[in-house]
Amino acid sequence: TESSNSGRVAVVTGASSGIGAATARGLAGAGFRVALLARRLDRIEALAADLGSGALAIRADVTDRDSLVAAAQRVQEEFGGADVLINNAGVMLLGPFSPKFHDDYRRMIEVNLLGAITTTEVFLDQLRDGGGDLVNISSVAGRTARPTNGVYAATKWGLNGWSESLRQELHPDVRVTLIEPGIVDTELPTHITHHATRQVVQEGYDAATVEPPDIAEVIVFALTRPRHLTINEILLRPSDQA
Ligand code: NDP
Repeated sequence: TESSNSGRVAVVTGASSGIGAATARGLAGAGFRVALLARRLDRIEALAADLGSGALAIRADVTDRDSLVAAAQRVQEEFGGADVLINNAGVMLLGPFSPKFHDDYRRMIEVNLLGAITTTEVFLDQLRDGGGDLVNISSVAGRTARPTNGVYAATKWGLNGWSESLRQELHPDVRVTLIEPGIVDTELPTHITHHATRQVVQEGYDAATVEPPDIAEVIVFALTRPRHLTINEILLRPSDQA
């Protein structure tokens, strides 16, 4: 993979922790140049320093379109544009459906769904120019819904429908791949605002067996297939997850 992908440029949102950070690391190892986007600049700068000259840290908030436009300009100037966009930034604010949590609902839709849509339209010209790849990080929750995850599931079901539409529409310029992980050991549950739900979910995450590099490896595999082959969708769970 090193030779065929050498120098391809991948933009990863939410690259400051978890799956995004591991994916950036995996792509750098496979010869990609990587632009790391997130709000926590200290984290992405440390990761970029670790990855070396082919990595660039850019502070961007996926709910702030201006920051994404500025990020796209920097990627254009420093790397000549993006070949791959990985929409990974997300929050999972689980809890009982209640008017107390209306802020959580807006935030999940703005980050997980609208954030991915906005990042993609901002980078679309760069991706189209020369044959690009779009990877959307959905979830098992994009195919199954449970009590207390309704709005989170809605954002991920939304990503799935939008991805399937783009898969058809953007061919042959951009390949579209959807990744749907089950429980992965990350910071994701720490942001849950409903205390009792956070405790229960955190217990499940404390016992997590799948680590971010497991997911990164799958993403790198999908991206390094020859261009006549598109891996449309990958649903993956820890073997003991129901
Ligand atoms: P983390 O909490 O470790 O990572 C989330 C990332 O999203 C962080 O890098 C964070 O960066 C970024 N982010 C959050 N809000 C914004 C924002 N407004 N603008 C830009 N970046 C933002 O969790 P994961 O690695 O687990 O999550 C990554 C993706 O994987 C999410 O979409 C999640 O839904 C999905 N997923 C995770 C699963 C799991 O079990 N862990 C299972 C299935 C899917 P910062 O705060 O620095 O901005």
